[in-house]
Amino acid sequence: MGQVLKQYINGEWKLSGSGETREILNPASGEVIAEVTEGIRADVINAVAGAKAAFYDDGWMDATAVERARLLFKLADVLESRAEEFYKLETTNNGKPIRESSVDVSDACACLRYYAGFTTKPHGVTYDVPDDMQSLVVREPIGVCAMIVPWNYPLLMAVWKIAPAIAAGNTVVFKPSEITPLTAIKLFEIIDEIGFPKGVVNLVLGDGPNVGDELARNRDVEKIAFTGGTSTGRSIMKAATTNIKKISLELGGKSPNIVFADADFETAVDYALFAIFCNQGQVCSAGSRLLLQESIYDKFIERLVERAKKIKVGSGFDESTEMGPLISENHMNKVLSYIEIGKNEGATLACGGHRITEGTFGNGYFVEPTIFVDTTPDMRIVQEEIFGPVLVVQKFKDEKEAIKIANDSCYGLAAGVFTNDIAKAHRVIKTLRAGITWINTYHPTYNEAPWGGYKQSGIGRELGTYGYEEYTEVKQININLDVKPTGWFSK
Ligand code: NAD
Repeated sequence: MGQVLKQYINGEWKLSGSGETREILNPASGEVIAEVTEGIRADVINAVAGAKAAFYDDGWMDATAVERARLLFKLADVLESRAEEFYKLETTNNGKPIRESSVDVSDACACLRYYAGFTTKPHGVTYDVPDDMQSLVVREPIGVCAMIVPWNYPLLMAVWKIAPAIAAGNTVVFKPSEITPLTAIKLFEIIDEIGFPKGVVNLVLGDGPNVGDELARNRDVEKIAFTGGTSTGRSIMKAATTNIKKISLELGGKSPNIVFADADFETAVDYALFAIFCNQGQVCSAGSRLLLQESIYDKFIERLVERAKKIKVGSGFDESTEMGPLISENHMNKVLSYIEIGKNEGATLACGGHRITEGTFGNGYFVEPTIFVDTTPDMRIVQEEIFGPVLVVQKFKDEKEAIKIANDSCYGLAAGVFTNDIAKAHRVIKTLRAGITWINTYHPTYNEAPWGGYKQSGIGRELGTYGYEEYTEVKQININLDVKPTGWFSK
């Protein structure tokens, strides 16, 4: 094993005060690929102090938009020039096929450039108010922003948070998932090289209950941005009450993908597979509930199963691989336990349902693409997020019933509708309680458009102008144009 990888705190690479390290694994082989320092609360406290000093004392608060834009453009350029190194590392640490990790890296560059360009564009407003007064509204950075992300898109989630926060003029303390920190550490190598002032962007490494909790609880952190599971989101909300810090939460989902009988059949089958099995089903917005109109139900399932069985599972480095391993042994066991729950609840396995163990597969955490039919709305596999390659199919008669089933969830992240009747598509979308919706497609997302959920899928939005605004405070400034005493009290 090489050297222990460090945190980046106040412009310096630091081992944690804990003296502990954590082994990072390749989920395709179970092999140890790196050793990283294991952060503790004291490291967070130091990083937050550095970020606070950088913002309030060392001038970042007054850094010009042009300067912030220049750094983000530079970060994008260097990341792009080292893309291969990043996507190979992402596949090694996360397991996802190279064709997906390479898209993650190019999407990260595009997001950095979107916010680099955006940095110089925001403008305030003025109001025509009563009295001889001018009223202005300006947006300002919040100050010290903490960020916590999960393991499913390690590099992309880092950029989705750091780019808008820096564009808006904040300082940052960032924590990757403890099991996938490697591309974030490499991103910070670039951050170090290209000359971000000391303390402006900090990296802490470690677990949720200590390092993550300290970020959520720390009184000098003024905003926390979190992506992860809904129950963790709940803990973060509670911890954030210490100083009423601003929060944005991107949480879990159990998103419906609705296919009407009049949809283009092969297109809908193709997207139903893409909706659930892309990134091994470890996507917050995955179309994990497939709602099929009863007249096409049997034919659709027959074709879906035929194609699901052909999905090539394997190492992310094999160019023909279409689905890689799950992220960890723990997570694989959670997914497998949901498959058992589904069987015990009386759902029928139409395909898959097992761990793949033949040959070298047994060293990694591979699970077959799995489809359950004969489900009922009360089943746990229908209501709870499995976050793996497990699709549950639900049957509906008509538009009204499709909407009722689709909205029968505590989540509200995403939804898809497949139909050739555009009026019907719009009627259905209008009634779906979800923040991200698609008609005759599933999954595409754009830097320009807001990302986030209704109900227990979260609070706030990422990306676009909405994502930028999440990292700003709004200030009104009233200017008296007729400067004289009020006359309110007697002289
Ligand atoms: P998780 O909630 O277990 O962990 C996410 C992050 O939170 C990790 O960095 C972890 O260390 C940290 N954490 C854990 N406990 C914490 C605590 N008590 N206080 C502070 N931080 C804590 O989630 P995961 O298993 O890494 O990721 C899967 C989940 O993420 C799924 O539910 C998925 O839907 C969700 N997700 C949502 C989006 C979205 O945009 N809505 C995107 C990706 C993933």
